[in-house]
Amino acid sequence: MIRFKEIKESILHVVFPHVCDGCGSDLVNIESCLCIRCVASLPETNFEQHAGNPVEKLFWGRMLIVNAAAHFYFTKESLMQHLMHQFKYRGNKELGLQLGRMMGNDLISSDRFKNIDALVPLPLFPSKEKKRGFNQATVLCDGIAEILNLPVLTNVITRPQHTETQTKKGRIERWKNIEGKFLLKDHQAIQNKHLLLVDDVVTTGATLEACGIELLSAGNVKLSLATLCVASR
Ligand SMILES: [Zn+2]
Repeated sequence: MIRFKEIKESILHVVFPHVCDGCGSDLVNIESCLCIRCVASLPETNFEQHAGNPVEKLFWGRMLIVNAAAHFYFTKESLMQHLMHQFKYRGNKELGLQLGRMMGNDLISSDRFKNIDALVPLPLFPSKEKKRGFNQATVLCDGIAEILNLPVLTNVITRPQHTETQTKKGRIERWKNIEGKFLLKDHQAIQNKHLLLVDDVVTTGATLEACGIELLSAGNVKLSLATLCVASR
């Protein structure tokens, strides 16, 4: 017997053709943005399962973290790059949510991420968020939260905007100065909590480090990290 849901999906498919965001092939499942083949071809790291993985090593001696994971390898001209572009620059939030849910499923499968209390998206500069219409890290958090059933704290830390006084400094100096600047707004909301700080990609770790150190300054905070991708330097 054909179920009502299947009939509805078939009709929707004719009215609104639904294709894979990865390869453009026809999709029957309207709840997915990606076909099975694209999902299977994404290069998973499995870092969430392994203590001392390359992302954790990146922070050794720089910042005290409990655990860290990046879920996919990022390489140029890859499917992952195409998906990141769709998500960040084409405003495909639905795809971002699905990628976040994939992160959540990986995290929940690991014993190392069992004691997280809340998710914190790495803030974007306000002007950038306004232009993009959303913060990609918040969208990833929303997807993770659906699986882990955890709160997403979007108002505890901010990223101050570039100011006039900073323009007097040298260009590189200025970039370092602004790039690494975060401001903790609500100490109480994160005290005594184990936070999972989330971003889309980790490369040198400098931005996550700056944001993480600011979160840790609240006192009695434990910090773990999760990013969608890891890019080699
Ligand atoms: Zn596909």
